Amino acid sequence: MNDPAIRLQVDAEDGNARAGTLFTRRGEIETPVFMPVGTAGSVKGIRFEELEDHDLDARIILGNTYHLWLRPGIETIRAAGGLHRFIGWDRALLTDSGGFQVWSLGALRKISEEGTEFRSHVDGSLRFLSPEVSMDVQAAMGSDIVMVFDECAPGQAPLEEARQSMELTARWARRSRVRFDALQQEENADAGRKPEERLSGRQALFGIVQGAAHLDLRRESLQRTMEIDFDGYAIGGLSVGEGKKVMWEVVGEIAPLMPASRPRYLMGVGTPEDLLEAVSHGVDMFDCVLPTRNGRTGQAFTSRGKLNIKNARWTTDTRPLDESCRCSVCRRHSRAFLRHLYLTGEMLASILLTHHNLAFFLDTMRRVRQSIRSGDFPTFRREFTERLRANGG
Ligand SMILES: [Zn+2]
Repeated sequence: MNDPAIRLQVDAEDGNARAGTLFTRRGEIETPVFMPVGTAGSVKGIRFEELEDHDLDARIILGNTYHLWLRPGIETIRAAGGLHRFIGWDRALLTDSGGFQVWSLGALRKISEEGTEFRSHVDGSLRFLSPEVSMDVQAAMGSDIVMVFDECAPGQAPLEEARQSMELTARWARRSRVRFDALQQEENADAGRKPEERLSGRQALFGIVQGAAHLDLRRESLQRTMEIDFDGYAIGGLSVGEGKKVMWEVVGEIAPLMPASRPRYLMGVGTPEDLLEAVSHGVDMFDCVLPTRNGRTGQAFTSRGKLNIKNARWTTDTRPLDESCRCSVCRRHSRAFLRHLYLTGEMLASILLTHHNLAFFLDTMRRVRQSIRSGDFPTFRREFTERLRANGG
């Protein structure tokens, strides 16, 4: 292979935790990094200018292939010149493969060797998603990081079911790789092509490790995924009802075994405490809907734990959401005002809480990176966790 699509430079290590820089065709990303989730092309409740502003400074966001493929549909995105142009975002974009969303449909989908057939939740039409279709769609969107099409097993799946699912994922990973490589050779398949000085300008492809709660299956899945060779590696199929103990067993076992020179991504996780735990095992990338979703339901993440803005105790409280947060919401508004906005159904309540929550997650990752670089991540983590348990303040 000539120039890579993406390059990770590890700048500092503290135990298994590591801080580095991920060079992509759309800029540099300091890791460990949290990626806000832009389900249907929008990170709900926040403008792109604010994601870019130094309060948040999100360097990469995530888009959902399943949702965008169904609506507005790939022809609309292709006509716009790819997802970056369609949504007005010039920084890095990662798209998932649609595998997890389709799997989540439960009884509404049918899985075969070829792919997954399901009914669209938008218009009830019969649709078919496969490794090849997923690669085609992610190329047309021009995302900078593409995920292989995988199959997820339930958290408590018994050994045989989990093995079949893991093996199907391995076969689909190979098919994803073949189609992806063919698309990268085509002139106009990748809508986001952007030749850069030190990188190839093509899309990056990440493999996904599955195997439910079975460590031997997880190790085998990692081995088989590494044999195919990807630009980065993800741990999938966690946070699907298996419980935290199992999740940390899997992450603690698998993350340190993943290739040290490639980015490691834990999909769909988690709370601020989860992020720190995963970082301690060597994970570099995260995505989660928690900061945006909870912002819309009146829940703030703060350095002293979660705060429910509906609570009557904030009625006349003039303090900001989080006294140690420097975001624009905390610099300007009181808990009393935010509570009033929420109770009167003002859309600004969701917007402001989402802004603060994202600022808190992204600032926490900034401080995590600093602590790894200065060699005191364990101390930072202990103090951070103790403060969280103070609960609201
Ligand atoms: Zn704030």
